[in-house]
Amino acid sequence: MAKRVYLFNEGSKDDRELLGGKGANLCEMTNLGLPVPFGFVITTPTCREFFEGGNKLPNLLEQEYRVALDLVEKQMDARFGDPENPLLFSVRSGAPVSMPGMMNTILNLGLNDEIAAGLARKTDNPRFAYDSYRRFIQMFADVVLDVDGEKFEHEISQYKSKHGKSLDTDMSAEDWQAIIEIFKGITDFPQDPFEQLKLAVEAVFLSWHTPRANVYREMNNIPVTLGTAVNVQAMVFGNFGEDSGSGVAFTRNPSTGERSFFGEFLFNAAGEDVVAGIRTPQPIESLRNRLPDVYDELYRTQALLEEHYRDMQDIEFTVQQGRFYMLQTRSGKRTGRASIKIAVDMVREELISEKEALMRVSPEHVEAFLHPMVDPAAKTDPVATGLPASPGGATGRVVFSADEAVAVNSDGTAVILVRRETTPEDIHGMKVAEGILTELGGMTSHAAVVARGMGVCAITGAGGLSIDYEAGTATTQDGIAIRRGDVITLDGTAGEVMLGDIPKTEASSSEDFQILLSWADKHRKLKVRANAETPEDAAKARELGAEGIGLCRTEHMFFDSERIDLMRAMILSDTKKERKKYLKQLLAFQHADMLALFKVMDGLPVTVRLLDPPLHEFLPHTEEDISALAQRLDKPAQAIRDSAEHLSEVNPMLGFRGCRLSVVYPEITAMQVRAIIGAAVEATEQGYKPFPEIMIPLVVNVREIRLISEIIDHGIHKALKEKSVSLTYKIGTMMETPRACLGADRLAPAVEFMSFGTNDLTQMTYGFSRDDAGRFIPQYLERKLIESDPFVSLDQRAVGRLMEMAISESRARKKGIKYGICGEHGGDPRSVRFCHDLGLDYVSCSPYRVPIARIAAAQANVDQERSN
Ligand code: PEP
Ligand code: MG
Repeated sequence: MAKRVYLFNEGSKDDRELLGGKGANLCEMTNLGLPVPFGFVITTPTCREFFEGGNKLPNLLEQEYRVALDLVEKQMDARFGDPENPLLFSVRSGAPVSMPGMMNTILNLGLNDEIAAGLARKTDNPRFAYDSYRRFIQMFADVVLDVDGEKFEHEISQYKSKHGKSLDTDMSAEDWQAIIEIFKGITDFPQDPFEQLKLAVEAVFLSWHTPRANVYREMNNIPVTLGTAVNVQAMVFGNFGEDSGSGVAFTRNPSTGERSFFGEFLFNAAGEDVVAGIRTPQPIESLRNRLPDVYDELYRTQALLEEHYRDMQDIEFTVQQGRFYMLQTRSGKRTGRASIKIAVDMVREELISEKEALMRVSPEHVEAFLHPMVDPAAKTDPVATGLPASPGGATGRVVFSADEAVAVNSDGTAVILVRRETTPEDIHGMKVAEGILTELGGMTSHAAVVARGMGVCAITGAGGLSIDYEAGTATTQDGIAIRRGDVITLDGTAGEVMLGDIPKTEASSSEDFQILLSWADKHRKLKVRANAETPEDAAKARELGAEGIGLCRTEHMFFDSERIDLMRAMILSDTKKERKKYLKQLLAFQHADMLALFKVMDGLPVTVRLLDPPLHEFLPHTEEDISALAQRLDKPAQAIRDSAEHLSEVNPMLGFRGCRLSVVYPEITAMQVRAIIGAAVEATEQGYKPFPEIMIPLVVNVREIRLISEIIDHGIHKALKEKSVSLTYKIGTMMETPRACLGADRLAPAVEFMSFGTNDLTQMTYGFSRDDAGRFIPQYLERKLIESDPFVSLDQRAVGRLMEMAISESRARKKGIKYGICGEHGGDPRSVRFCHDLGLDYVSCSPYRVPIARIAAAQANVDQERSN
């Protein structure tokens, strides 16, 4: 039979699974020779046995812990249940994964009428004894007997007002005795200490399933099967008098990461008083002034613990009558900034390696350096929720159209653009907005992709909102009307909308952050490129470490208000001649843009995708839009209406896009190639080193690639004719349809690179429309029909398998093909890891995700090295 009970000197920090985090650390500290009040741990498998046995303690458990208890008595020189020399216990939960405050604790266990009187005699401190006893009754009744804690608090306040007392410190021993008598009228608790212990152990196990613990586990993906251990530890008392007290401390500052010991202390108080925040603790210096020897011991201990654990520690300690005791140590929670500073400092201090430092930071930590974030401490309840489309925090006045956004912002007023969904027509408003909130759309909808690209905070698919443009209101599910001009705050990292201006932390880089990123570059294999079109975005991407452009969506280059009509006119052209006229005008823009992009990306590859406009994003929808466009294009409204109708599609996301456009309108492709190669030639002539890669989107078979490659080759030939420059370029394809992946072996001979467009690939694998998925994905997640949003984190079992198959089969056919990914997944750490493991050459993501991808790629590599 497996051992169920471990004394504190029988385990170590490596026993987290078995003894829980708290138990393992108590054992470790005991072994280090620190002054830990002695005790024992009941293991986590015992918790599973308890549930499997129908919430009953295993038969021999009591015998086992009584043996341990005898040894604790010897060690502490006191006896459990002995009125003359009482030993009291704290009984606490402790899971393998930290779940702060989620489960139950009982203190002062082992007190009854007789023992309380004994404790009063022994300590010569009746006030302390009866205060402890009443606290025990309150906790025991609350945790074990399920009596509403409010009842006790109510009785205490009634008593106080009747007797003219206001603070707990005004209460004498006699007062607490009177209170205890009153409490006994409310609850009937066992006087037998062993019975108390048994019930307390059961209650701790049962607390594994309290609603708050269940919710916490779900939120943090903690498996329910882990179970909790029970820590039974001899009590020491911080509320013994003025030479006693309790404190919490961090070995470094948890908000800034500074290497300075940081803590708080409350004299004459139990640990629970510090944690509960009933009285305001004093800075730790107060302890140094009053009990310098204790402070010195504390200081030495914290330094030892940090060095031993090689991480910042969060410690709890108690001082009883001038004696110092350690109660807990664990890795301290910290802000994003602190986490990076601490990791980098610890490498400098030679405590950890660069690789370890990299493994200690998470993407959320990195985001704090890139975007302002909503301060978690200041957050209020959200009035609406949606998909966390683009991270960061933003506050502004609500506007309902792009024009309004520009108008209101003209004097610098921050605005939040609230739309049902966005289209390229909204770009000017999106550019000036602090944040974007849409009712519809998923994680790869227009609003999400564009906002992420610009680094603007966004929430999409906030389906609970109903937006009325006319009335200028967005009404929440609870009936709260958010009106035009109201100030709201978006938390794009959590997908939460709050009323008012919620404080945010500033974004700014730091030297430590740059150092960490340089280590990431040193320890990764996977390259990181960016998805960007404009020179500004490309420059940002390069600044953030992008090693090229993995996807330049050429249609995005025409989002600008000046150009969008030209693009529309081209799409709506009735004849080839008319189309060519507009193409010629577009060529000038395209050439200039490409030139600028090649200059910014000097020496690095730039993958330019041939035009792939989901046509519906460019067409006018409402009568108002149609007549406005008619006026601008100087065309009859009816003609526009007719063409729009002719081009309107039942399922536009699966529609007339990508290479299909090149097949039907080769002149568009010809113009683009001319612009791309012409610009590359010009850049070369000016002394830059452009590396254009022309990418054919949305293919389903090799014939499309061959046909379009011919147009491209022809265009290149023409553009290079009579030029003396030599240009290195590539032609490749985007893998966005399941058929392309399934037939990758046949595509291979015709391409030099394959870039997985996992947005469309996910859409087509699932049959979930990218634009509409936001309406149901939140429900799917809530009901656990899917584990995560497949548009955020790559579905490794389906989309990932398609990728794997495409790579292995195409590689078998042709060596030297480069593989990349340029869907939004390229910036998702889990997906980046998958791409690394699959052996891709690069990931491409929006500029602001580049640092996150760099770190994720390094983490994947370090992990792989470790497992080899
Ligand atoms: C994709 O489909 O993954 C992709 C990157 O292309 P887009 O998002 O422009 O369709
Ligand atoms: Mg696509």
